[in-house]
Amino acid sequence: MPEKIFRIYNSMTRSTEVVEPAQPGRLRFYACGPTVYSYAHIGNFRSFLTADLVLRTAQAIGWETAYVTNITDVGHLTEDDAADAEGEDRMAKALRSKEGERFANIWDLARYYANTLLSDWQALNLREPDARPRATEHVARQIRDVARLLEKGHAYETAQGVYFSVASFPDYGKLSGNVLATGLDEGVRDVVQDPEKRDPRDFALWKKDPDHLMVWHSPWGWGFPGWHIECSTMAQAYLGESFDLHTGGEDNKFPHHECEIAQAESLSGKPFARYWLHTRFLQVEGEKMAKSAGNFFTVRDLVGPESEGGRGIHPLALRLALISGQYRKPLNFTFDQLLACARHIQRFEEAADLAAQGVARNDPGEDALGEPLARLYEQALAAMLDDLNTPEAIAAAIEGAKRVLRDGRTMGGATARSAQNWLEKINGLLGIVAQETPRTAAKTAGSAAAEEAFAREVEDLLRQRAEARAQRDFQRADAIRDQLAGMQVEIMDAPEGTRWRRQISNPVS
Ligand SMILES: [Zn+2]
Repeated sequence: MPEKIFRIYNSMTRSTEVVEPAQPGRLRFYACGPTVYSYAHIGNFRSFLTADLVLRTAQAIGWETAYVTNITDVGHLTEDDAADAEGEDRMAKALRSKEGERFANIWDLARYYANTLLSDWQALNLREPDARPRATEHVARQIRDVARLLEKGHAYETAQGVYFSVASFPDYGKLSGNVLATGLDEGVRDVVQDPEKRDPRDFALWKKDPDHLMVWHSPWGWGFPGWHIECSTMAQAYLGESFDLHTGGEDNKFPHHECEIAQAESLSGKPFARYWLHTRFLQVEGEKMAKSAGNFFTVRDLVGPESEGGRGIHPLALRLALISGQYRKPLNFTFDQLLACARHIQRFEEAADLAAQGVARNDPGEDALGEPLARLYEQALAAMLDDLNTPEAIAAAIEGAKRVLRDGRTMGGATARSAQNWLEKINGLLGIVAQETPRTAAKTAGSAAAEEAFAREVEDLLRQRAEARAQRDFQRADAIRDQLAGMQVEIMDAPEGTRWRRQISNPVS
């Protein structure tokens, strides 16, 4: 197999470049994760899915990967994107809100939304990272980094906190092009800033606030870390001072990523990440997604069961819709398109069923699909290697499913085997054919074999439940549903059949 070339658009150099990991064949990368003050919305997931596609594409060409994505559970302030170190901690604000009433304290709230994030992650078939550090579990290291920045003269202390001195880092602005304070200035106009701040561009590394709901002891008294230092510290803790790629949403580019670079490079004197990849925003039905516009959707609004206020949409249909546009272009998410995606997912499932039935038949026949399907896989892979061109990759996948369905029930064993292998490879690349066994669940259960046994038991119960329902024995059907709930299995009834997934334990409900 000739060496594959993986190209992405590097926001740092503003050009499309060949990805060359520092260690050939081993991609080390960090993706900015969510702030867990609420359920993740579909715009958040568009950016997480880009990282997932980078991971899958790298693995598809045989690279090893070291993939880290964080959970922000303290210190991300409401005004952080516009006015540094101003506003309220999003976590504390969520606790005071109507939805926050059911939590006993802020730690319960953080744990709950982090758990729902993990279950959405699993539902949308994202592969598990090698590490998922939480900011609150790495505060000692963040304090150490802030202390080192002070020692090196890159930071200073005021009565209210510790700030990074932007003037001490001449490269500030190299990612976003934002060298003046304009981006921040406009936001700060209405907010009272720390009067001791030396430069409006300076940003908080540490906030002194003994009354905050989440506090740690530091050399500067009780308080909590700034959002930017959390990410650069965790990235360097898990991936080293320098690594290959850093990803996030386009709204992370400035100030968040600019500040991460300033901190990390001031500490190490080395380039932080060599490639930067940013996912453009998502619109819903042609408009900016906003709660006030009534077009704001969390993942569970769409894929959750109808009994819980969701729409019962197949999670893979949502995944397909969210990756249907290339990450570098704004994506207009529409319900028409989501329905079209649901039909595609149904076809992938039908193709997988037909292939499985064909393989079970004892007539090998000639392999009618091996060659055309191999060509379509190569097309899909080539598209993904070309700056994650998902529309072309998905088109090749859909074309392949069409071929499999066309041969349908007449497929001999050899053809069916090719179809099955192809579906598995396409799923590995795009994650749109079938839910992959989540690694987290396998770990809890101890082994893949235990996981399979568990799945068989669930499938068996689902079959019994379907029989009971067909016989209109609803009492028995409900009892089976309760039994499944007791096994932490969530079931989703949809017109195309019943699906299930493991629930991640929910500490508050
Ligand atoms: Zn981040």
